[in-house]
Amino acid sequence: MTEVITDRPRIGISACIFDCPVRYNSKRFDEVAKLGRERADFAFTPVCPECMAGLGVPREPIHLTGSGADVLAGDARVKDRHGRDVTEQLVAGSRACVEALERAGVRAVILKESSPSCGLAKARIGARRRESALGSGVFAAMLGETGWFLVPSTAFDSALTWWDWRRRLYAWLWLSDRRIASNGDLTGAWHVVKFIVQETQRAAADSIGRELAGLPKRASREMLEASRTRMLDVLRVPTTPQRAKAALWKTYVHHVKHGRLDGVDLHDLSVGSPEVLRNVTTIAEELVGLERIGFENDLLFGTSPVVYRDARRVRARDAGPAIPDSEE
Ligand code: SF4
Repeated sequence: MTEVITDRPRIGISACIFDCPVRYNSKRFDEVAKLGRERADFAFTPVCPECMAGLGVPREPIHLTGSGADVLAGDARVKDRHGRDVTEQLVAGSRACVEALERAGVRAVILKESSPSCGLAKARIGARRRESALGSGVFAAMLGETGWFLVPSTAFDSALTWWDWRRRLYAWLWLSDRRIASNGDLTGAWHVVKFIVQETQRAAADSIGRELAGLPKRASREMLEASRTRMLDVLRVPTTPQRAKAALWKTYVHHVKHGRLDGVDLHDLSVGSPEVLRNVTTIAEELVGLERIGFENDLLFGTSPVVYRDARRVRARDAGPAIPDSEE
């Protein structure tokens, strides 16, 4: 059975990709528009650490002399192109944004990649492009200490990358909130999210399976939480188009073989085998189709074991007759 989150996920987001003109040059991007109607499935809190630092718009672009983590440790600085040191301001602005996100009840943040403040993995370190290395920005490094689910803005690059980040985000939120008081609770939760990890990191999935099997009969709270944290960590790792395609086919064929799709409204969905050449948008459409069929018919498709639907839609499904999931 598909697990359903009914609380609309609260997501922090770099303000400049939420159509706010806060970049150093007053520009903005509307990345969230790419979500279309799905945008309403999230409650967004946009933040800009450079604005909260008091650097203003427009402003001089800044650069890092070390990674964001080095800046927070006092081992590197943040400077503008005239050499003015703005380290203290940016750290204070980043802290103010984290506090605002905490007040908003956020546990996941979408971050503009490549920025010296928000960049998750590709912030440029150093003033000269040719000599620069890549790392995390200051705000991203501070967020890394919270243990929240961090999503790079490259998640919006294609329908498939967004689908992958979204389904792992839902699984991560579900697992974080799950009551885990016994070995059985932990194993039950693992049986829901393990399909994603088996797809993205087979060796890690096997290792976690062995870890759970090796737990003492009544594992301590600390042991249970340590295993949960490990599961949450592996859910942060993205898939590849090839892996997603193979998992899509495997999970679809599994249900066909067991006759579980007999008499089910497939909404014109046809799923291609891994050998069938198709673009990532088509693959994402097939995966989203399986999510919809799974939700409407209480079937578990391992590619998306957890979905978000508002409570009204869940009540409508449970009351029957079936209302198509796509209807408002
Ligand atoms: S990347 Fe971050 S700091 Fe830079 S403009 Fe966007 S929100 Fe502000």
